[in-house]
Amino acid sequence: MSEMLLEIRNATKTYKQRGTKGDQDVIALQNFNLSIPKSPASIITIAGESGSGKTTLAQLVLGFTHLTSGQIIFDGQDISSADAAQMKDYRRQVQAVFQDPFGVYNPFYRVEHVFSSIINNFKLATSKDAKRALIEQALNIVGLRGEDVLRKYPHQLSGGQRQRIMMARAYMINPKLIVADEPVSMVDASLRASILDVMIRLKEEIGISFLYITHDLSTAYQIGDQIYILYQGTIAEKGNTIHVIDEPKHPYVQLLVDSVPVPDPNIKWEGEIVLPPEEEMRTSVHAGCRFYPRCPKRMDRCLVSQPPLYKIDEIDHQASCFLYDQNEVATTAQKV
Ligand code: ADP
Ligand code: MG
Repeated sequence: MSEMLLEIRNATKTYKQRGTKGDQDVIALQNFNLSIPKSPASIITIAGESGSGKTTLAQLVLGFTHLTSGQIIFDGQDISSADAAQMKDYRRQVQAVFQDPFGVYNPFYRVEHVFSSIINNFKLATSKDAKRALIEQALNIVGLRGEDVLRKYPHQLSGGQRQRIMMARAYMINPKLIVADEPVSMVDASLRASILDVMIRLKEEIGISFLYITHDLSTAYQIGDQIYILYQGTIAEKGNTIHVIDEPKHPYVQLLVDSVPVPDPNIKWEGEIVLPPEEEMRTSVHAGCRFYPRCPKRMDRCLVSQPPLYKIDEIDHQASCFLYDQNEVATTAQKV
């Protein structure tokens, strides 16, 4: 038995995109490594601005798209070589919560249908009373009551209620991991904290781990155990969330953190930094640091090769920047 719930090793995903100069490969994710232990359950935040590869990572972990190279290993099993039964089990153990859960509701069915179809599909209960009890328990965990929501249609719910119901639905299936792609970005700022609280509760009381994907550093600060900050498909910096946000080391992350007064959860990070015009930076095959064009501390060597992750502390804080080249190189890139 593996000690690790999820291991992502040297994951690279490229997409073909049509451009004016013909088809180009866009590198959405490059040599990405991450591992989540089986216990204790943890919330791992993946943060980065739009286009940094967050959704690509979520889709890869959910099995909706395939790696170009690398491996995703769940409980010791490489999912690319899983058989049908293993894949079915994987799809139960790894659940998704999306930014806009409207898409997963059928507008013509009442909310109770979401739950009854899950119970029937996964054969979670047979008697009417047992089904009802299961639904109430799941709603209770996310702070809702059946009488308030079950008879309603999706459009009659608030964004916060819809997200809670998605969390309750995921919880019911008894997963080990929930991949939550921007789950609060369409929810009113005043309700965001309560949904983050649901995630913390599911982690602490039920033992469910999360891949929490966000473009917003302030919610990451409130919730996350570990954070990975992506820049154009590569890890700029990772480590304990509080350490990384309180003392960022990568020049990109320093700019990000400076742009947001972190303790105020109402102020969003998006829009503070202007996206680079150079999408070709990620498509071209040049070897250097992707942040070079925007970096206030760039050096000539940054154009020559991409910096590895250097250790900042002895635990897990690492930054991909030559400013730290006197430090040891982290050995996250695992040999396969
Ligand atoms: P994020 O979720 O951080 O905004 P994405 O993972 O959606 O980032 O996108 C990362 C990069 O991959 C972007 O440059 C995007 O244009 C490209 N990309 C994502 N999905 C596709 C796709 N299906 N086809 C082509 N390019 C894609
Ligand atoms: Mg996205």
